[in-house]
This record gives sequence, structure tokens and C-alpha cells, in this order.
Amino acid sequence: MRLTRYFLPVLKETPKEAEIISHQLMLRAGLIKQQAAGSYSWLPLGYRVLMKVQRIVEEEQNRAGAIELLMPTLQSADLWRESGRYDAYGKEMLRIKDRHEREMLYGPTNEEMITDIFRSYVRSYKDLPLNLYHVQWKFRDEVRPRFGAMRSREFLMKDAYSFDLDKARAVAAYHRMFVAYLRTYWRMGLTAIPMRAETGPIGGDLSHEFIVLADTGESGVFCHADLLSKPIPGADTDFRGDLSAIVSDWTSLYAATEDMIDMAEYEASVPEDKRISARGIEVGQTFYFGTKYTAPMKATVTGADGQEVAVHMGSYGVGVTRVVPAIIEAGHDENGIIWPVSVAPFEAVLINLKAGDTESDAACDKLYAELNTAGIDALYDDRDLGAGGKFATADLIGIPYQLIVGPRGLKEGQAEIKHRKTGERETLPIGGAVGRLKSLIEPQRRDQA
Ligand code: ATP
Ligand code: MG
Repeated sequence: MRLTRYFLPVLKETPKEAEIISHQLMLRAGLIKQQAAGSYSWLPLGYRVLMKVQRIVEEEQNRAGAIELLMPTLQSADLWRESGRYDAYGKEMLRIKDRHEREMLYGPTNEEMITDIFRSYVRSYKDLPLNLYHVQWKFRDEVRPRFGAMRSREFLMKDAYSFDLDKARAVAAYHRMFVAYLRTYWRMGLTAIPMRAETGPIGGDLSHEFIVLADTGESGVFCHADLLSKPIPGADTDFRGDLSAIVSDWTSLYAATEDMIDMAEYEASVPEDKRISARGIEVGQTFYFGTKYTAPMKATVTGADGQEVAVHMGSYGVGVTRVVPAIIEAGHDENGIIWPVSVAPFEAVLINLKAGDTESDAACDKLYAELNTAGIDALYDDRDLGAGGKFATADLIGIPYQLIVGPRGLKEGQAEIKHRKTGERETLPIGGAVGRLKSLIEPQRRDQA
């Protein structure tokens, strides 16, 4: 993408309304624009990140055997009356009437609707297990929307729903999602720790929140330090096999949110020098809740013995839009964002230090074509602007590698690569630059399908 033909509205000043660094940087780098309280447009650069995040989520859901579909944002109130949640949900639910005075709502979550889909088609235990998911906008009329995309009213969520014949099989389905989540956040460059969690309005008795540690996080958390450096299950994990050993390996180290913390157990099981008491961002949550929805909504199947049984369900959310500020909270410096390669809007930025100069333009145009041929997502800063301004933009928007080309280096046939994260610079022959970038970038794409 040539920057002169792109739409990248970066801001010079830090907007006053933004309290935390990720919100400030998302506004300054032109990722989002506020449209109303808790409502944001995703501008082109931000949208690229969001789509890369969504793609990783989808790839890992698919790998774990979940099947993607798409449900609407508006739902009928009647469906929620069946489960009893229409009255129970309270003011967070946005209630709407259509022209025929029919009561509707903007979905805050989809347990009822997916249960309705399930009961419309599935009759036999032979059709199980089943896990259906979608990535769709949700609306929750939060009392205090704040911190930009971190806590907005309209937000993008991946929500998966598992259906199984009995509790043991439902727990196995829960384990598949648990391991998929470990891999999902790792692929985005995040360290997200599964912690025992309260279930809230979704219900049930088995739940984990996946938490990224950050001082600006809204949850208080307690965990064993070794969880921060545990190796993640590989892409070769057999999701058709038994994953309980992996899950108990993770859950045997203590980790709980402040709502669930048992201080005596925490202190007894975690040595003092391994105790982490910190703030965290909830980037996802998994629930097992048995027949909470399927019993009242009559979502039953015929078992092997011919008996009708209500199926056991779990649900599994990822805050797709919230993940983006969480990644920024975890990766930035005084000059701007530092994206991990796997979610970076562009993997490399080609900086032409003297746009308008015939030789510089020719060399950069050639490099830009080579970058495209090599399959590197590249931004080409071809603006007629001083070097300082270009470096500032590249640092602010956080592109992992800068390929810098100017008349002085060109005389020697050389270009420079700057690593955004470490600040390290390498000078190399211009002909080897794209190959070098490729070898730096490819391993960091992390199991990209
Ligand atoms: P929170 O406790 O932060 O309000 P929640 O527990 O109500 O979230 P869930 O029902 O577990 O949310 O939804 C799944 C995921 O959706 C959450 O883990 C979070 O990452 C994301 N999410 C929930 N509410 C919001 C919001 N208002 N803005 C952005 N993301 C959200
Ligand atoms: Mg939650």
C-alpha cells in the first residue's frame, strides 16, 4: 500500500479524553474514531489489525473442530423469555421495538439463539458432539463505557457454543476450547493466563477467564508466576484426542480472579516468591453450564437408549475488539505501538527518504514490487516529507520492520533495516534486503494457515 494513496489520519496531539496508553495510541495512530459513547469506527489501519486478529481466532476455532456460521445482531425478545433471561438481564440489554411493536433486542450474547438453531435440526446423539461459533457485533449498554475499544458498548465477539450428550463429553469439549484459547492468544503475541472465574449472567459452575496482566486492567487477579512462561500446546495437538492432561497441567498452578480467590488455598499452594497479585484484562471467557438453556428451551436429543435428554452446553467468548488494545497495552514504548508480526497492520514499512528523487524513487519502486512478490504485507511511505516525520509515523503505527532507503546509502548500494521492537539497525546490500526481511518475518507469523 502506497501511503500517498492510503487513508491514515494520525494525530499529533494526545487526545485528552483518553486515559490509558492503548486508547491514546489507538486514536493517535488512526486505528479508531469514536462515534458515540462506547461506539467506534475502525479506520483502515485498525481494521487491518482487527481482521488479522479475527482470522487467528477463526483458524484456531476451526482447528479445534468448531464450525463457523453467522447469526443476526437483532434477536426476538420471545426467545429470551423462553430461557427466562429477558427479564433477568437488566439494563445492559438494549431493547428495541420494530414498527409492528414487536419486542426485539440487540444481542449481548447468543446462547438462546444458538439453542434455537440446535433444537430445530438436531435430534439424535449421533449428531453430537457439535460446536458452532460466529464472530459478530454485540451490544451491552455498559454503565461506564471507557478506555476506547477496551470497554465499549458495541464490540466484536467470537462466541462458540458446544453441545454434548452428557457432562463428561461437555467437559471434553470445554478442554478443546481451553487449549484452542491458549494457542489463539499466543499466536497474537499475548500471554493470556486462564484463571478460575465467576460465571455471572451466563451461568454454570465451571469457568475460566483468560487474563492478560496489565496495570490498567479492570480485574484483580492472583496467580502462580510459572504460568507466565509455560510453553503453549503446538499446532500438532490432536483435538480429537483427550486434552485433559494439558488442561490439568495448566490448572494445577493456582490462578483466580478476585471474585473467586481463596486466599488460604492460594497461599498454601503458591510459594511466596512465586505469588503474583496484579491487575489484568479479560480477553476471553469459557463456561460450562450443563442444561441451563437446553432444559427450559427443550433442546433434547434421543440417546442410545432411546431416552430424550437435554444436551449439555458450554459457551466460549473472545473479545475480538478488546484484544487489540490489550496487545497495545502489552507492546508499546514512548514512540508508539509495537505490533507483533502476526497481527501487525503491515509487516514492513518501506521508507523512501527522498521521495521525488529519481534514483530513490526507482530503487524504492523496485523494492516495493519485490516485497509484494515475496508476500510481505508492506506499506510504502512515498510521501514528500522529511525523514523525521516518516520515522515518527513508522514508530507510532508500530510496523515491526522499517526498510529505509536514501540517496546516501544508495550510492553504496545499501539499505537499512530497523527493528521496531529492539531499535536494532542493520545495513545491508539493497539486493538482499527483501530476503532478509522475509527470513525475519516468516517465523513470527506463528502457524498461520
Ligand atoms: P466484563 O467482565 O469485562 O464486563 P464479561 O465477563 O461481561 O466482560 P463475557 O460475557 O465473558 O464478558 O464476554 C466474552 C468476552 O467479550 C469478554 O471476555 C471480553 O473479552 C469481551 N467483552 C465483554 N464485554 C465487553 C465490552 N463492553 N467491550 C469490549 N469487550 C467486551
Ligand atoms: Mg466474562
